[in-house]
Amino acid sequence: MSETTSAMPRIHVLDPRLANQIAAGEVVERPASVTKELIENAIDAGSQRIEVDIEAGGARLIKVRDDGVGIGEQDLPLALARHATSKIDSLEDLEGVSSLGFRGEALASISSVSRLELISNAQDDPRQGWRVVAEGRGMETRVTPAPHPRGTSVAVRDLFFNTPARRKFLRTEKTEFAHVEEAFRRQALSRYDIAWTLRHNQKVVHQLPAGHSPSASERRIASLLGNNFIEHARYIEREAGALRLSGWVGLPTHSRAQADQQYFFVNGRVVRDRLVAHAVRQAYRDVLYNGRHPVFVLYLTLDPDVVDVNVHPTKHEVRFRDGRMVHDFLYSSLHHSLADARPNGGDRAASEVAASEPATAEEAPADSARWQQQGMALAPSSDRHPGGERVRRFMQGYQALHPGHEETLLTPQTSTADKMPGEAQSTVREAPMAMPEADPTSAPPLGYALGQLHGVYILAQNAHGLVLVDMHAAHERIVYERMKNQLAATRGIDTQPLLVPVSLAASHAEVATVESERDAIAKLGVELDIAGPETLLVRQLPAMLAQADPEVLVREMLEELARFGRTHQVEARIHELLSTMACHGSVRANRRLTLDEMNALLRDMERTERSDQCNHGRPTWTQMDMNALDRLFMRGK
Ligand code: ADP
Ligand code: MG
Repeated sequence: MSETTSAMPRIHVLDPRLANQIAAGEVVERPASVTKELIENAIDAGSQRIEVDIEAGGARLIKVRDDGVGIGEQDLPLALARHATSKIDSLEDLEGVSSLGFRGEALASISSVSRLELISNAQDDPRQGWRVVAEGRGMETRVTPAPHPRGTSVAVRDLFFNTPARRKFLRTEKTEFAHVEEAFRRQALSRYDIAWTLRHNQKVVHQLPAGHSPSASERRIASLLGNNFIEHARYIEREAGALRLSGWVGLPTHSRAQADQQYFFVNGRVVRDRLVAHAVRQAYRDVLYNGRHPVFVLYLTLDPDVVDVNVHPTKHEVRFRDGRMVHDFLYSSLHHSLADARPNGGDRAASEVAASEPATAEEAPADSARWQQQGMALAPSSDRHPGGERVRRFMQGYQALHPGHEETLLTPQTSTADKMPGEAQSTVREAPMAMPEADPTSAPPLGYALGQLHGVYILAQNAHGLVLVDMHAAHERIVYERMKNQLAATRGIDTQPLLVPVSLAASHAEVATVESERDAIAKLGVELDIAGPETLLVRQLPAMLAQADPEVLVREMLEELARFGRTHQVEARIHELLSTMACHGSVRANRRLTLDEMNALLRDMERTERSDQCNHGRPTWTQMDMNALDRLFMRGK
């Protein structure tokens, strides 16, 4: 008789509470996850009003009360049972699921690790209503009468009281409540037709009336995310086939140090998706200060059949059937609306933001002040950048290809000389030399130049008051955009074979990507050969990237292609280079400009996409309207 036999454990079925506690490990991490599940149930029940009460950060109490359809008496025991749901019946249902829940295990899991009480009434008579709790290892349910208006209240007390190991992981009351509030925020941003309340320790934290109108929605966003968010965001709406994107995107000059104010909803479900994040990052790449994060609240709607929500127990991730199409749609929608960030972009944000106070120190790029000081001291040499020598070489090459271009790079007043094909005749020459006396409303958005301040800023007068322009930052963007347009219009991507092909050790996945993405890679001007099961040969690169490190470029390209079906690496690198060239070629501080030259720069800004911020994401201009000036002098007080 060996010891192993006597000690061999027998197989048995887990009791329901233990099975549920194990399942709870996946979805019930902390009070915030309980709050999320309970709110989702309330939304799925068709509620118009949802109230959330929290005590002690949720460790003592999480209570969600709704006025939805309620649960009938005979269904109550099932509500707390695992794998019991009213939301789907079959696999087909799952494929097109539009409810937030469908797994039928949230209440069972939560109930196994807390003292959960559910009271519900599916009738209009408030004297009706039933209460259910699940007790013991078997989680037997007990149903007793309890009056309740139509709808459901779920109270979760003493979370993790019976799982001490988990309870230990709870953080301070403040931290846990911050997570609960974030869960609430996400849900409240998903449904404007529902009225919401959040209370902590009996104190109201958020009270949000229902309302669909644009102003009601913006009030809600302002109270959830702060006035700053909405003041520096623009509303966008794009549609392509069955895809629709709408919502608010922060202006690039209003970015944050953390990626915290980023909300993305797919068919009403908040998701944190890599593909989405990547597409957004690409779209902002050209306009965002390095290392800063954009803010946005965006809603993507598409046919439920083409998105799989059953890929993760907490349903935070989704899988798109055609990821490439979704990526392209997001990227191009955002890219286009960001391109409109210019003085006459014609949207609400551009004018309102311009008229509002400059961004506060907290919200502006961290070292914006430093940047501006540096602006005062900009040297006319190009060795401020580490890549200076490389850039000079490229500039020579670029100018050889675009005779006459150096003029444009250096002097704004010749900007009419090198038009894009098909670009409308410029009005620069017709602009009056100085500010006209006539009707101020007919003045262009940035008005007319008054003069130059310390060789750094242009002062101009427009219909609202005073306009201040950082002339180097503005010119840099203009030159950069012009170079990008020229590149796109006249040449496409020129390629250059490498003198000596570069051999790379590659993974099987990388080799497979090269095989499946042959066309996409060729279009980018890159030639890659498969030289062996684990070897790639780089034979050719875009001419402008001839100096790039082929290994880094190819690896990043392949990784993006494999993961998202799209890569912007080549374009991004060329743009990076153009951006540096533009920076070197732009008017430096301390250069005297004539009024005529200043006006030409203002008109160029109005015409140029993304000209509200320079290539590094710093703002290029700001407005001080008459009211702000009057306040400065306490006029009219
Ligand atoms: P799921 O949401 O995945 O169906 P849950 O465990 O969260 O699973 O809920 C189980 C069932 O209980 C739901 O399918 C629903 O029928 C019912 N239910 C839960 N909460 C509510 C509510 N607030 N109002 C009405 N029905 C509810
Ligand atoms: Mg649920």
